Amino acid sequence: MLQIRSLSKTYANGVHALKGIDLDIPRGMFGLLGPNGAGKSTLMRTIATLQDPDTGNIVLDGLDMLADKTAARRTLGYLPQEFGVYPKVSAEDMLDHFAVLKGVTARGERKELVQALLQQVNLWEVRKRKLGTFSGGMRQRFGIAQALIGQPSLIIVDEPTAGLDPAERNRFLNLLAEIGENTVVILSTHIVEDVTDLCPRFAIIATGQVRLSGEPHEAIRALDGRVWRKTVDKAELAAHEQAHSVLSTRLVAGQPVIHVLSDSTPGDGFAPIAADLEDVYFGELRKAAAPATEA
Ligand code: ADP
Repeated sequence: MLQIRSLSKTYANGVHALKGIDLDIPRGMFGLLGPNGAGKSTLMRTIATLQDPDTGNIVLDGLDMLADKTAARRTLGYLPQEFGVYPKVSAEDMLDHFAVLKGVTARGERKELVQALLQQVNLWEVRKRKLGTFSGGMRQRFGIAQALIGQPSLIIVDEPTAGLDPAERNRFLNLLAEIGENTVVILSTHIVEDVTDLCPRFAIIATGQVRLSGEPHEAIRALDGRVWRKTVDKAELAAHEQAHSVLSTRLVAGQPVIHVLSDSTPGDGFAPIAADLEDVYFGELRKAAAPATEA
């Protein structure tokens, strides 16, 4: 269990990136969902002990991570948003190098470890290839291999699926799901489906605050009977946005389909629909953007 308490951070330029984050993150996949600028990377880097918060603490299975960073780093694996590699080095040699850095000094043990990791992330066949020739998905899987060195009990993955095509994304998420069971895995993302498909628990973060945390199906249940759909004319869109709590607008065959949050029917032509996690997410972002007018 990872416990985060009262974590706050203001950057030197005055941006208040984290405003008292409290989170309990159990073993398994945990989705941290939020728009760009929400503070996800700041939180991930702080948990990875790469930057200090102004206040607050982080405890992993009893270990105070900020007080003992050396011990913390031994128990964590991190795949940053911008994962830099040497483009001219082969996957195998680079992973071997990372293993040395992580303290796996015995040559035989390291060779076995590198082989096992390359097989686990499905890069064994391409192990001799230079990293610069890898696709985005291959690079991310390599990133997971390096994060798994040393059998970490906490793995932090920051926006891993952003640039991946659907097939690569699936492959990557399946890989994460396999390691999730005995490890705390935090997946930071702005893609709702990443969480829906994969995470038994999640939190929504916006403007440096936790807006919601729990189980996706519970959050969805809380919207039961309150989400309505209507296909509208483009010309009516602005008026609907004025009149209703519009959660989302999506073009379906060129025509806007809106989702509206309302305790009773919003009017003619609106049909009640089963809510999904995207409705939950957009509902929380709406509240975050308009705290004065909506409870
Ligand atoms: P996310 O990962 O959710 O997009 P970030 O943690 O990257 O969010 O950013 C949160 C806020 O902090 C943003 O307003 C961003 O511009 C700001 N920020 C992030 N890193 C720095 C930094 N090193 N210096 C100053 N401001 C930063």
